[in-house]
Amino acid sequence: MRQGRRQFLKAAGATFAAAAAGCAAPPASAVAEKARVVIVGGGYGGATAARYIRMLDPAIGVVLVEPDAQFVSCPLSNLVLGGFRSMDDITRPYTALAKRFGVRVVHDRASAVDATRGEVRLAGGETLKYDRVIVSGGIDFMFGEMPAMGTPEGRERVLHAWKAGPQTAALRKQIEAMRDGGVFVISIPEMPYRCPPGPYERACQVAAYFQRAKPRSKVLILDANGDVTSKGALFKKAWSELYGGMIEYHPNSKAVDVDIATRTVKLELEDVKGDVLNVIPPMKAANVANPFITANGRWCEVDWLTYESKVAPGVHVLGDSLQIAPVMPKSASMANGHGKTCAHAVVALLSGAAPNEAPTLLNTCYSMVSDTLAIHVASVHKYDPAGRTMRAVPGAGGLSAEMNEREGLLATNWALNTWADALG
Ligand SMILES: Cc1cc2nc3c(=O)[nH]c(=O)nc-3n(C[C@H](O)[C@H](O)[C@H](O)COP(=O)(O)OP(=O)(O)OC[C@H]3O[C@@H](n4cnc5c(N)ncnc54)[C@H](O)[C@@H]3O)c2cc1C
Repeated sequence: MRQGRRQFLKAAGATFAAAAAGCAAPPASAVAEKARVVIVGGGYGGATAARYIRMLDPAIGVVLVEPDAQFVSCPLSNLVLGGFRSMDDITRPYTALAKRFGVRVVHDRASAVDATRGEVRLAGGETLKYDRVIVSGGIDFMFGEMPAMGTPEGRERVLHAWKAGPQTAALRKQIEAMRDGGVFVISIPEMPYRCPPGPYERACQVAAYFQRAKPRSKVLILDANGDVTSKGALFKKAWSELYGGMIEYHPNSKAVDVDIATRTVKLELEDVKGDVLNVIPPMKAANVANPFITANGRWCEVDWLTYESKVAPGVHVLGDSLQIAPVMPKSASMANGHGKTCAHAVVALLSGAAPNEAPTLLNTCYSMVSDTLAIHVASVHKYDPAGRTMRAVPGAGGLSAEMNEREGLLATNWALNTWADALG
């Protein structure tokens, strides 16, 4: 086994070197398929896994199932709300995954992942057999906890914009149409939710737009948590230094429903009216991952060496659908790292070799507090064999000392690099 693993790592290293030298994997049809991996979801986790499996072993056929024609990034999407980026700026094609890496990209929705039969059924009628399946569908919302938001009218008028795409563009329109002197209300669910700093960054972006275009307006943050959940001191400094009294923060303010007609957020003890409501409901693993949910009826637990589900052999789960390890955020940085570790493990398992016994993940999460200024938090997470979990490495990473323009440039570079890493 030891020798097998060394040989595998050598082969993997050679493939990485070839890819780095610009030699992309050949198209799937050019090499006899030794095994097939189906990947459900072409976001940060799934697209990364697809690309890396093909780079590591071009003899493995990879089919990526993704309903959207193009990849739309959540990171930087708050800048669309601020009017500093367009939807085009945060949209990338899937063409390189197909053309350069030989991934078969199927634009359809997986209606079921059947671990017993080893197949993924698509809404369009096709059935895909797999040797291993990777499920990276992101998150879905628990509308049952906010009934009015789940109605057709609620979904159209009270937006979350917590999956970048049509809702991002629609929320920008609502903000643009708001009167000067109006109130933008953003409601944040209890942790854990996708991208802990994201709502606070959004508050900054909307305030930056109001400063320019509607200076009598306000941003009201209703947070179900007891305090700002990420980069708290840095965000609070930005709110007071950049936006004066324009941003108002209310902790321990859990939304339980909305009144669509009167544009009211219903909290446990009081009601708050606004002109534009941006309510982010509580979240769970993507619906397509429902059979693999094992924690609190919401999230999927996995073996952190392989990302294989604790309840379904041959099924791997990545990204935001996971039950997180201690202090691990639900972020694109993390999903990208899960994708690479899982790709390496799946190639090893399909080659009869052992997966890496000491995986490490890095997280860097930038937040744009204006059009040019940013802050960041970073962490390193290492496998702990005793606890069979990932643990943050003490002293590694940390917070930026202050907001500045250099951080703003690095934030854009981070996004460009991560898109290239995932999509080729
Ligand atoms: C406003 C905002 C800002 C953010 N900023 C940052 C940031 O600066 N840095 C950072 O690291 N993270 C950031 N994030 C978090 C980041 O976007 C997520 O953590 C990341 O997208 C998770 O990757 P994923 O692969 O799990 O899910 P996703 O990237 O959401 O991908 C899931 C994919 O699965 C597809 N899918 C779903 N169901 C099915 C199905 N049944 N069949 C086929 N496909 C399906 C979806 O269409 C989607 O493309 C931000 C999030 C938000 C909302």
